[in-house]
Order: sequence, then C-alpha cells, then structure tokens
Amino acid sequence: MPATYKELQQQLLDTEKDLRMQLEATKRTVREDGVGYSNHMADAATEVFEQARDVSVARQLERSLEDVLHALQKFEDSTFGICESCGTIIELARLEALPSARYCMRCQSRHEAKR
Ligand SMILES: [Zn+2]
Repeated sequence: MPATYKELQQQLLDTEKDLRMQLEATKRTVREDGVGYSNHMADAATEVFEQARDVSVARQLERSLEDVLHALQKFEDSTFGICESCGTIIELARLEALPSARYCMRCQSRHEAKR
C-alpha cells in the first residue's frame, strides 16, 4: 500500500469523526427546535423552514458519512483506490481531492452523464 494511502485513510478517519460530530449537532438542533414550542405563528413558520433545512443538512451529512465509511471499508477489503466500476486504479490526484471516491475519473463522468 503506497504511503499516501495511509494518509488518505487517516484523512477519512478524521472526516468520519468530523461528520459524526456535525450530524450529532444538527440532529440535536432538529430535536430542540421542535415545532410547536413557539408562541408566535410567524416564528413557527420560520422554525418549520429551519427544521426542514436542518433535516436536509442532516441527510446530506449522512450520505457523506456513508461514503466515508464505505471508503474505510475498502481499506479493510484491500480494495481502496480501485474503481468499483471498471476495476482500474483510481488516479492518486483524484483520491487526494476526494478520498471517498468510488470510481475513476472516466467511470465517474460516465455515471454523471447518465443522470
Ligand atoms: Zn472506472
């Protein structure tokens, strides 16, 4: 395993910790700002909006966390850095920019074109 991979793994572990903390904070906000506790209707509307935003932020964080955990699992399976679509080795520059990348540049752009 190249030395850089070890650094990327550490980076992923840091990101995992960070995401879990953010997720915890966001979820706490959603709970504490629970709609219905406000005395003012206008505030309630704002709270609904803010809660919806927090929920979507939480969902985004969960998705990122999933990607990070998936990438960490690939270390366990010794498949880190290998494209899940074509099996080629993912460009190191790409992994440095996005350690949780699942696909090589070519497959990624093919996937995105399909959307
Ligand atoms: Zn590929």
